[in-house]
Amino acid sequence: MIEFTDIKIAVDFDGTIVEHEYPKIGKEKLFAFQTLKELEKMGAKLILWTFRTGKELDEAVQFCRKNGIEFYAVNKNYPEEVFNETVSRKVNADIFIDDKNVGGFPGWSEIWQILNPYDLQQKEAEQKLTSTGRIILKRLFGRKSGTNEV
Ligand SMILES: [Mg+2]
Repeated sequence: MIEFTDIKIAVDFDGTIVEHEYPKIGKEKLFAFQTLKELEKMGAKLILWTFRTGKELDEAVQFCRKNGIEFYAVNKNYPEEVFNETVSRKVNADIFIDDKNVGGFPGWSEIWQILNPYDLQQKEAEQKLTSTGRIILKRLFGRKSGTNEV
């Protein structure tokens, strides 16, 4: 499994975690919370990065909390940060997930695949094949040294 330890991932809300129905809360986008939970498990720090403020922002945070996601920070670089003119408005994240990305929003399963590179998936697949291979060899070997059944 890839480590995302201390990797900051800024995630947009409307149109990304949920369907865009601002100021209402839209339906969850397929696999949004599932993917975010997995990234969190892998050590990522999730930052909610949205234009929502005040009541609408609280509603979004609550909605995510109800769905099992507690953000490391909300519209901030870290929880204790106090926003003023010395702080850039752009959050300092390693990865941004936003439906306004150039190319549009690829969907959460595609995002998952982008963040879990092919070679690692390949390694896992090879490991599975190797263990399957061992089982087959064991069976063959078992037959040879067994009761002469062919
Ligand atoms: Mg958006």
